Amino acid sequence: MGATKVVRYEHDRVYALEQSMVRSLLIIGDERALLFDAGVEEDDLMGIVRGLTDLPLVFCMSHSDRDHIANVSQFGTIYLHKDEEERFRKTGKAEGLELVTVEEGHVFDLGGRSLRVIACPGHTPGSISLLDAGNGILFSGDTVSYGPVYMFGDGRDMDAYIATLEKLKALYDKGDFADVYPCHNICPIDGACIEELIHCAKDLMAGVLEGVPATMTAPGGAPVMEYHVGDCGIYHI
Ligand SMILES: [Zn+2]
Repeated sequence: MGATKVVRYEHDRVYALEQSMVRSLLIIGDERALLFDAGVEEDDLMGIVRGLTDLPLVFCMSHSDRDHIANVSQFGTIYLHKDEEERFRKTGKAEGLELVTVEEGHVFDLGGRSLRVIACPGHTPGSISLLDAGNGILFSGDTVSYGPVYMFGDGRDMDAYIATLEKLKALYDKGDFADVYPCHNICPIDGACIEELIHCAKDLMAGVLEGVPATMTAPGGAPVMEYHVGDCGIYHI
């Protein structure tokens, strides 16, 4: 217990609940707050949230990888994308929780601040980002970060991932957001990096990007390669 460190982004009314290699993000509106993800280590996340805000809390997960759901049981009602429900249930962590599934376009109205669900299949089938167009922020989950983004193993789909990145780049290009708050690595980052991720993903799939062996193996022992373009990277087999 007690492994969570709070980082405050006062100007954006966002708190990062940082654990060893992952962050959950608490987003504050005028009438409600939303917690995006539940960490990798067991801790009293609800207690930490209650130390930061007394607004009614909505909980939503970016996806159901184990490093994002450790403390979900504290939150009772869980919003998640419909294509992630089956995968989440298989983790055994859904028992006793009320699951509410959402789709592309669902809006969380926090009062004076709204977060729109952007479906981001690729990293997992039901990965989502939350677009806060009013403040020019994308809360990207694991879809956009300096990474390296884990794109091997259960649920990964590179073609879907590339299509998702192109969809996000179009939103960035039309000015819906400038900054990205990711769940891994540096935070916040400039949305311009999405172009680097697209480049990285496409070139590694085309076999024209030189990778380096990563310091890990995939389940089953397959070697993992690490690919980089600019600030961004992808782990792939
Ligand atoms: Zn993750």
